[in-house]
Amino acid sequence: MFLEPHFKGQRSGWIEVICGSMFSGKTEELIRRLKRAKIANQKVEIFKPAVDQRYDKTNVVSHDMNTILSTPVSHSSKITELAEGFSVVGIDEAQFFDQGLVDVCQELALKGTRIIIAGLDMDYLGKPFGPMPDLLAVAEYITKVHAICSHCGNLATHSYRLTAVADQVMLGAKQEYEPRCRTCYQMGNILHFNPIKLREGTDDVYPDLFS
Ligand SMILES: [Zn+2]
Repeated sequence: MFLEPHFKGQRSGWIEVICGSMFSGKTEELIRRLKRAKIANQKVEIFKPAVDQRYDKTNVVSHDMNTILSTPVSHSSKITELAEGFSVVGIDEAQFFDQGLVDVCQELALKGTRIIIAGLDMDYLGKPFGPMPDLLAVAEYITKVHAICSHCGNLATHSYRLTAVADQVMLGAKQEYEPRCRTCYQMGNILHFNPIKLREGTDDVYPDLFS
């Protein structure tokens, strides 16, 4: 996985982005990198959007309950002041932040901070999510992680929403979303496949998709 660059002369900052679908291990990878920095006695701070309080108000929590302490912030502008004095800054669920996060990260990187961002690259409609496309454009290093498609076992790049809610921001875990590859995601959208029906015992519709 990601290896930090070797420093020669003056240390400069940079931006790393870890992106992918839901259940792809983005937060686990973020935590892994941050823990390594902590072990090296680097000053580490982690921020997450205040909107995301699925599991815990102060921990960055991945789905497998691997945790690390974090600070919830309501707006990206708060990060600039709160990040003062830290050499490594992690940002989780970056897709939920405002667009100002891009400039905030660029400024911090210019000041010598290493920024590690984790976030969904696409929303449930398959569209670029929040500030993520811009962050990907300005980052020095990008890691795209993948989940496994719930239906065919190929690598999954899309987050398929299992419920009929139209909001872009719907926080969720296993009940509301599942990871799908491009083909299974598209098949689901075309047929308006509704897994609620699957639970009701009409799952015989599904094998036809792949025969
Ligand atoms: Zn698939």
